[in-house]
Amino acid sequence: MSEPGAEHIEHFDHPEYTEHAGHPERAEHAVIVGAGIAGATAALTLRKEGYQGWITLVGAEAEAPYRRPPLSKDVLRGTMKSERIRLKPDAFWAEQAIELRTGSTATAIDTDASTVTLADGTALGYQKLVLATGSRPRALPQAAGVPGVHYLRSLHSATTLASALASRGPVVVIGGGLVGLEVAASARALGCAVSVLEAADRPMSRILPAWLADPLATLHQDRGVEIHTGVSVARIERHTRSKLSVTAADGRVWPAVVVVAAVGTVPETALAEAAGLPVANGIVVDEYGRTPAPGVFAAGDAASVPDLLHGGRRRGEHWNEAMEQGTAVAKTIVGDPTPYPLLPWSWSDQHGVTIQVCGRPELATEHEVHGDPESRDASVVFRLDGKVAAVVAMNRPTEFRTLRQLALAAQH
Ligand SMILES: Cc1cc2nc3c(=O)[nH]c(=O)nc-3n(C[C@H](O)[C@H](O)[C@H](O)COP(=O)(O)OP(=O)(O)OC[C@H]3O[C@@H](n4cnc5c(N)ncnc54)[C@H](O)[C@@H]3O)c2cc1C
Repeated sequence: MSEPGAEHIEHFDHPEYTEHAGHPERAEHAVIVGAGIAGATAALTLRKEGYQGWITLVGAEAEAPYRRPPLSKDVLRGTMKSERIRLKPDAFWAEQAIELRTGSTATAIDTDASTVTLADGTALGYQKLVLATGSRPRALPQAAGVPGVHYLRSLHSATTLASALASRGPVVVIGGGLVGLEVAASARALGCAVSVLEAADRPMSRILPAWLADPLATLHQDRGVEIHTGVSVARIERHTRSKLSVTAADGRVWPAVVVVAAVGTVPETALAEAAGLPVANGIVVDEYGRTPAPGVFAAGDAASVPDLLHGGRRRGEHWNEAMEQGTAVAKTIVGDPTPYPLLPWSWSDQHGVTIQVCGRPELATEHEVHGDPESRDASVVFRLDGKVAAVVAMNRPTEFRTLRQLALAAQH
C-alpha cells in the first residue's frame, strides 16, 4: 500500500502543474480516469463551478476527448474529418488548468492511500477521484480467434472499419441494435451490400416497441439492407484475407468481405473491481454518483445508478446520459449535491431519420401518437399510471425537446 504524501506521489508539485496553472495555493487534486464525455464533462464542470484544485484527466486513448456518436455515422461515411469530432481545441485543456494525459492508462487504485497508479508507474494522489472508464463492445464468442471481425468503439476502430468498407464488398453486421443499424446504414450509403443478423425477432427490440421499430426496419429494407431476425450465429470463418463467411445454427451462410460485431457493450469495471469497489453491471454508485469509498465517484457508461423512478438499477449507454452524469458528479464534488437526471435520453440517425428516445417506453401502459410512425414522422407520449413516463420522436426534434421537458416536469 502506498503512503499518502510519499515522495514519488504526484500531489501538487508536478512541474507541469506549476508551469501551466500558476495557482500554487491549490489545495486539492481531482483525478478523473477516462477522457470520454463523462470524464471530460466532469473536468470542465469542476472548473466551471469554481473548483480550485488541480484536475488531471487521464485517458487511455491517444486522442484528446472526442465525440463518439459520429463514428458510426459521418466518420464511417467519410463525411466528417476526424479533427471535427474533437470536443475542444487542443489548447483548451491547458487553458482551463486541466492536465490532460492522453495515451495513459490507470492500472490501479488504492482507496486507503488515495492514489491512482498509471501504466508508466506514476502514482497520482487524489482527494477526489472520478471513474469514467466507459464501456467496451461485448465480445462475440464466435469471433474469437477470427482475424478481421470488426468492433466499433474508438476513433481508431472507426477509421480501420472505414478503410475496410472501401472494398464495397458484402458487409455482415451481427446485431440489430442502434450501433449495428447505424453501421448498416452507413455501409449501405457507401454502396456496400449489407446484411444485418439479429438474434431477436426484430431489430431494436430493447429500445422500441415493435410498432415503432418495424417502420424503421422497413426503412432499412427499402434502402437495400437485408435484415434477418431470429438468427443464431454458429460460426464465423475467414477463408482468405478478404473472404469471410457467417454461418447460422440453421445452416444459412452469409459470405462477407467485412464482418462487424455490434452486440452490445460491457462496462469497464476492472480497475474499480480490483480496488474493492462494488460492481454489478457497472460501478455501483448512489444517485449522486458516490461509491462507498470516500471521495470516489463514478459516471457514464461505467456506472450502475439507482433508477429512482422505477426501482432497481440501470446503466446508461448513451451520450447525453454520460454527459449529465459527469455534470452531476462534478457539482456534487464542489458541494452542490446534484442527483443524476431521472429520465435518460438518446438519439440515433439511420438513413436520414433521427430517432430520439427519452425514458423507458417499455414500461408504459398507455401511449398517444402524433403524426405517422409508418412514414417515420411522429412523436409518441408514453404514460405509466397516467403520468408521462417516456417520449419517442422520429424526425421531430423540436417536438421532442418540448415533450422531454414535459416528461421531466411530470416526475416532480
Ligand atoms: C459508434 C458509436 C455510436 C454511438 N452513437 C450514439 C448516439 O447516436 N447517441 C447516443 O446517445 N449515444 C451514442 N453512443 C453511445 C455514447 O457514445 C456513449 O454512451 C458515451 O460515449 C459514453 O461516454 P463515457 O464517457 O461514459 O464512456 P466512453 O466514451 O467509453 O469513454 C471512456 C474512456 O475511458 C477510457 N478508459 C477506460 N479505462 C481506462 C483506464 N483504466 N485508464 C484510462 N482511461 C481509461 C477509454 O479508453 C475511453 O476513452 C454511441 C457509441 C458508439 C461506440
